[in-house]
Amino acid sequence: MGGSPLRILVVGAGIAGLAVARALRMAGFRPDVTEKLPPGELPDNGLYLPGNAARALRQLDLDGPVRPLGQVVHRQYFLDATGAPLCEVDLDVLWAGVGECRALLRAELHRVLLTGAGGAVRHGAEVRAIDLLPQGVGVTFVDGSATEYDLVIGADGPHSSIRTLAALGGSSHPTGQVVYRAVVREGPPVAEWTALLGQRAGFLVVPIGAGRLHCYADETGTTPPADPVARLRELFTDYGGPVPEVLECLDRVHVGVTEEVELGRWYRGRVLLVGDAAHATAPTLSQGAAMALEDAVVLAESLTTAGSVEAALTAYESRRRPRTRWVRDRTRDRNRTRDVPPALRDPVLRGRGGRIFGAHYRLLLGPL
Ligand SMILES: Cc1cc2nc3c(=O)[nH]c(=O)nc-3n(C[C@H](O)[C@H](O)[C@H](O)COP(=O)(O)OP(=O)(O)OC[C@H]3O[C@@H](n4cnc5c(N)ncnc54)[C@H](O)[C@@H]3O)c2cc1C
Repeated sequence: MGGSPLRILVVGAGIAGLAVARALRMAGFRPDVTEKLPPGELPDNGLYLPGNAARALRQLDLDGPVRPLGQVVHRQYFLDATGAPLCEVDLDVLWAGVGECRALLRAELHRVLLTGAGGAVRHGAEVRAIDLLPQGVGVTFVDGSATEYDLVIGADGPHSSIRTLAALGGSSHPTGQVVYRAVVREGPPVAEWTALLGQRAGFLVVPIGAGRLHCYADETGTTPPADPVARLRELFTDYGGPVPEVLECLDRVHVGVTEEVELGRWYRGRVLLVGDAAHATAPTLSQGAAMALEDAVVLAESLTTAGSVEAALTAYESRRRPRTRWVRDRTRDRNRTRDVPPALRDPVLRGRGGRIFGAHYRLLLGPL
C-alpha cells in the first residue's frame, strides 16, 4: 500500500506520534498529525535511550541529527545507597551491533522528530468523537469540524482518549511508584549512568552533555508530595556517591506517578493505538521511547507490505506484542526486586548483577 492515497490521522505529537508520522512519510504516506497542546517547549527533562532506540532512529534516517545531541553512555554503574559499587554493565558490549546508548534532553529528541515528521502538526485539535465505519473512521474534532479517514492512529499517551473513544480499554493503572525528574547544571562530575539502589527507593544520575545531569529518583508510593525538592532531600539524605551534591543543586523537580497500560487488543476497525497509549510501563528499563520508535518502523513496514489495512494492523500487532510484553514483564521483574531488603539483594548483585541487569534487554537485542 506504500504511496497509496490512504488518508491517515495521527493523534498526539509526542515521541510515538511524530515517529509514526516520520515513518509513514518515508513510506510515501502523508498523514495529518494533531496535538491537543499548543506549540511550545517541553519541560526540561532528560531521557536515556538504550541501543535499540538508536537502531530505530537509524531506520527512520534520523541518526545523523541525533548524533551531536546529548552524550553517548558507555557503562551503567549500580551502587548501594552508600555509594559502594554493586555491579556494572558494559553497554558497548551489550548493545554491540545494535546501536549506542545515549542520554539527552527530551526536547532535543522532540525537535529532531518534529522536523523529521515534516513539521506540520495541527495544535489545539482534539478529537471529540470517532465513528467506526466499514472501511474507515469518521472523526469529529472539538471545534465541530468532521473528516473521514482510512486509518486513525492513537499516539496520545497513557491517558489516551482515542483508546476510550474506540472502546479499546479503560484507564491506565498506577504501578505504585512516585517518580522525580530534574536536570542539574553545575552538579558534581558524573561520567556515566550511575544508579544508587536503596530499599523501595533509588536515585539515578546520567550525564546528558554540556555539563548537565539528568536526575531520576523513585520511591514506592501512590501520591506525589506537595514539595518534591524537600521530599527528595529528606528521602535521600543518607545516600552517598554524587547524591548529596546533586541534592544541593536541585531547584525545579517534576514529580508524578508511573502507570501501566495493558490491553487485550490494540486496534478496532481502522483505529490503532501505538506507544504509551497501547503499552505504557513504568520507566525502569528506559524503554518507552525505544518502543515508540520501533512501533513506528514496524507500522510503516506493515502498511507498505500488507495487502490491506486490516492485514497490516494484524501483522503490526503480532510483530510488536512479544517485544512490548517482554519490556512489561522485565520491568515488573526488576521492580519486584525493590522490595527485597538490601542485606539480601546486594550480595546477589555483587556476584552477578551485571549479568542479571544485562539479561533484561536480551530479546531487544534481536531484530524487530
Ligand atoms: C518519569 C518518567 C521517566 C521516563 N524516562 C524515560 C527514559 O529515560 N527513556 C525512555 O525511553 N522513556 C522514558 N520514559 C517513558 C517515555 O517518556 C514514554 O514511553 C514516551 O514518552 C511515550 O511516548 P508517547 O508519544 O507514546 O506518549 P506521550 O509522550 O505521552 O505523548 C502523547 C502526546 O499526545 C498528546 N495528547 C494527549 N491526548 C491527546 C488528545 N486527546 N488529542 C491530541 N493529542 C493528545 C500529548 O499532549 C502528547 O504530546 C519515562 C517516563 C516517565 C513517566
